[in-house]
Amino acid sequence: MASGIVFDIKRYALHDGPGIRVVVHFKGCPLSCWWCHNPESQSPAPQLLYRGERCVACDICVGACANGAIVTSGGTMFTDPAKCRQNGKCADVCPSGAREICGARLGVGDVMTEILKERIFFDQSGGGVTLSGGEPLCQPEFAAALLAECKRYGIHTAVDTSGFVAPEVLLGIIPVTDLFLYDIKHMNPEKHMEYTGVDNDMILSNMLRLGERGAVINARMPFIPGVNTDDENMRATGDFLAGARGVTRLNLLPYHSAAEDKHDRWGMEYRLRGAAHPPTENSLRRAAEIVEALGVSAVIGG
Ligand code: SF4
Ligand code: SF4
Repeated sequence: MASGIVFDIKRYALHDGPGIRVVVHFKGCPLSCWWCHNPESQSPAPQLLYRGERCVACDICVGACANGAIVTSGGTMFTDPAKCRQNGKCADVCPSGAREICGARLGVGDVMTEILKERIFFDQSGGGVTLSGGEPLCQPEFAAALLAECKRYGIHTAVDTSGFVAPEVLLGIIPVTDLFLYDIKHMNPEKHMEYTGVDNDMILSNMLRLGERGAVINARMPFIPGVNTDDENMRATGDFLAGARGVTRLNLLPYHSAAEDKHDRWGMEYRLRGAAHPPTENSLRRAAEIVEALGVSAVIGG
């Protein structure tokens, strides 16, 4: 059976599709959004993460690393990326949880075992399973196999996607995907490139293709003042969605700073620092009105 790299399986999720859901977070993403909520998901392989504030300076990890990757200098610990094999031997012995390997290879059967434990909640709430990431369709065979297995058990399926994937991959999973949660980040190609690292052309054309093939699409937009909330972008977004088939609504997801803490925790650069702030109620309402005036249902929040 297919297998893939998963970094989290979240239970009781309420904002990733209808009802109570299990969200399976796949590792790997072709985008590098400035506001990424799961920066540890971007690299496709399992990865060593280090939380300096938890370290109790016992030096046990130094002895556990056969590759000599961990060095201390002037009281500061440093892991040499050129020497680190990401095998987690140091994380296994770290007594404080300062070291952790993010991501593990799991088979479809392993993930289904976890999913089926929550089945009673799906039945009672109209919930199901959502594949998220990272970008779940970066591991297309694993994603397709897991979706097919969920459908075999009669479980509702959703795929949370950036849309930046080969069209045949996206279209190929329509028969086993009840709902696409489809991110629209910016309508301006240059801005999209600046803030996410990729062009939006394939993302937009893929959404049109999905709709033409009968997919049900819930568009979602991270609403980030200073990035994409201006009237011009909201009108362009509304125009585009109004012309796409299969789009049931646009969710405006208000920016918050939780991602900033996560970048800090894992020692990653947060490029939106100081440049964005949570949106006001008024700005959210105004954006929703612009989109609704163009015939697209808008919902504030997840
Ligand atoms: S993950 Fe492995 S190679 Fe890397 S620092 Fe830890 S023990 Fe050494
Ligand atoms: S084993 Fe953990 S707590 Fe001890 S020095 Fe290494 S990172 Fe710090």
